[in-house]
Amino acid sequence: MAQIAKVIVDVPTMQTNSPYSYLVPDQLAQAIQVGMRVVVPFGNGNRKVQGFVVELAVASHFEKQLKSVESLMDLEPVLTKELIALSGWLADETFSFQITCLLTMLPNVMRAKYSKQIRIADSELTPTELAQILPEDSWNDFTPEQLTPSQQNALTRLRRQNKIEIVYQVKNQAQTKRIFQVQSLITLADEEKILAKVRKNAVKMQQLVHYLATHPESINQTALEKKLAISVATIKSGEAKGWLKRKQVEQYRDPYKETHTRTQPLHLNEEQQAALNQVTAAIHSSKAQTFLLEGVTGSGKTEVYLQAIADALAHKKTALMLVPEIALTPQMVTRVKGRFGKQVAVLHSGLSDGEKFDEWRRIKRHEAQVVVGARSAVFAPIENIGVIIIDEEHETSYKQDDAPRYHARNVAQWRCMFHHCPLVLGSATPSLESRARSEKQVYRLLRLTHRINGQPLPQVKIVDMRQELQKNGSQNFSPALSDAIEQRLQLGQQSILMLNRRGFSSFIMCRDCGFVLKCPNCDISLTLHMDSHSMKCHYCGHEEAIPKVCPNCKSHKIRYYGTGTEKVEQELQEKFPEARILRMDVDTTRRKGAHERILQKFGSGDADILLGTQMIAKGLDFPNVTLVGVLNADTALELPDFRSSERTFQLLTQVSGRAGRADKLGEVFIQTFNPDHYAIQLAKTQNYENFFRKEMYIRHQGKYPPYYFTLQITAAHKEENLAAQKMFAVLDELRPQLSQNAIILGPTPKPIARVKNKYYYQIVIKYKNEPGLHGAVTKILQESQKNYQKGIQLAIDAEPQSFM
Ligand code: ADP
Ligand code: ZN
Ligand code: ZN
Repeated sequence: MAQIAKVIVDVPTMQTNSPYSYLVPDQLAQAIQVGMRVVVPFGNGNRKVQGFVVELAVASHFEKQLKSVESLMDLEPVLTKELIALSGWLADETFSFQITCLLTMLPNVMRAKYSKQIRIADSELTPTELAQILPEDSWNDFTPEQLTPSQQNALTRLRRQNKIEIVYQVKNQAQTKRIFQVQSLITLADEEKILAKVRKNAVKMQQLVHYLATHPESINQTALEKKLAISVATIKSGEAKGWLKRKQVEQYRDPYKETHTRTQPLHLNEEQQAALNQVTAAIHSSKAQTFLLEGVTGSGKTEVYLQAIADALAHKKTALMLVPEIALTPQMVTRVKGRFGKQVAVLHSGLSDGEKFDEWRRIKRHEAQVVVGARSAVFAPIENIGVIIIDEEHETSYKQDDAPRYHARNVAQWRCMFHHCPLVLGSATPSLESRARSEKQVYRLLRLTHRINGQPLPQVKIVDMRQELQKNGSQNFSPALSDAIEQRLQLGQQSILMLNRRGFSSFIMCRDCGFVLKCPNCDISLTLHMDSHSMKCHYCGHEEAIPKVCPNCKSHKIRYYGTGTEKVEQELQEKFPEARILRMDVDTTRRKGAHERILQKFGSGDADILLGTQMIAKGLDFPNVTLVGVLNADTALELPDFRSSERTFQLLTQVSGRAGRADKLGEVFIQTFNPDHYAIQLAKTQNYENFFRKEMYIRHQGKYPPYYFTLQITAAHKEENLAAQKMFAVLDELRPQLSQNAIILGPTPKPIARVKNKYYYQIVIKYKNEPGLHGAVTKILQESQKNYQKGIQLAIDAEPQSFM
């Protein structure tokens, strides 16, 4: 019976979320599977395009007229049926195309055009046998889609039997790393007989024979070379004589090579145990319940996660744990690996493509049962999930900025429904959305109200910088904070200092005419960089020299305003010449592994002060840190965004939580020009619950989330009026579908109206219940492709995290 394959095709300007049907030629009928990529003819010209098989079905009579699948691109499915189903839901949910979602789920190396190699993976298959299917000269650069169907069929079968493997070539570096193992073929009994035939002066050969005779277990070839100080040639000649066998085995790149000291589960306190019991009950009863674990910093949330994961593993299930971003992962990865060792796979953007691919395959082959990773790890091809955990669930990095604009929390929820397993959202400062849902019993609230060992929360002191400005002029360090740093230096304790750099800092302004140097392409001021001695745009990368005179009035009084971490570091070093300072910001952490190195140095006591941007606020757990200073708490408050108070509160609470985590009491100084602002006052007592109530009231007044849903549509074009016109046209189309209750803001230019020479116009819709909205917006998405040729880019963002 003829088969048809339903295929989501990759055609940039003619996207649709309905699959196209293709006939499966008889030769491919055995090989083709859902989740494979295929090449299919498309359109009038029968152009060859790539597509994903999302369904296989029996062809009806009518469908025999269809075009046929041309060839397979994979010899095994690259996506599971679960992920295929997820992609369909995701496209609908985030107003994006299903092909974009499918591609997002794959590791980079599989997305781009890399050459592929075919390798024998099982010694039962001889090269001659493989050569009968595929000539040897094409093993190193092989294109499955150009093979004949019978070749594809034969190779698919070998692949299914694990006799061959496909290797992706990245930047001329073999994708899988392979090493030689040496296996002895002789025994102690053979030694004398063999030695008798070896020349007396061939010392190395004699050593090798002795080693092989006494070591029946196999050894890594390089290790053997080192051990006996012999060359590969010696080993090879040993092979020729039949003393040993060399075998190529695959070795995974392990980005976390250090061996982790194994840790044992801690004895939980009452609150931890109560929280864990609820989660494990849901694991045991296969219930897709979402929990919100609200626990003050240092209350032992991580231990609850680890024991929940252990429970899932004990029930032969797997676990997925998401962490916000790379800066946070080193300590978290250490803790998870310390508990679960080799069962853990790690996925995050700091890994090379090759490392990521290795980890991805370990998961796919069921070699890892615990996956830890940043946002996109939510698509890890892990099966049989027992629990999903999202740490620091309020973090904005869980929302993707580009299509598909998904929130990892929603994707995780979908997967939990699919696997009938619980989802644990953890935070000291939950997002208002999540906290509100637990108020309505949609999520179940679990609370950890005190720190482990009853350590008090650190003492927080607010320093009013308005008064300081009057008394001592503009400065970065108030006397109170300086004294506290000095004290720590004398006591041999450590300090963490945070410079809040979100927003507009360190620009150049003329004191005579007020001129500010701006980027010629974007609507923002350029930032001073001392390392490169230049002015840079953080949006488009534009760079120019630091002006010596004002370009506008030629005055020499052109000065530097605001503060950058570099400048603060200099100032700090001048103030405390004996202090050992580490700086952590985008500039010092650009190199791979730099984060880890800085934190390791700080953790081992090689520095007194860690100075950094927001990236030091989260998750760090250093027992010798007793002082935290926030140099400028305000920049985030001034941003034109309804979440600015929430962000400020979260940031201050988190960074304060870095102090006094062990037996020593912690102290926190927050320098601010807005000492009376409720976000700052409530951060002082770290009273999340009070903040939640106050902020909910304000959101209610302003008709913002979580009381209203929000949807943002943005148009971008090189010409301002075209971007604006497009937004008015979109609005005209939407309005008839909306009720009186929907609130429409705009069209307006975005707060940063021009970026990379493009103008941005947006509308924001606030709504509670609009049945017509989803369909109308989906239609706008479909039609947006027609505009593409005119250069208009349309972005649709449901529940945007930022309105900037
Ligand atoms: P959180 O993630 O809530 O900030 P952590 O999980 O980092 O808190 O816990 C803070 C510290 O307390 C860690 O050093 C951790 O090892 C320790 N800890 C956690 N739970 C226990 C426990 N039940 N008994 C003893 N120490 C614990
Ligand atoms: Zn720019
Ligand atoms: Zn001037």
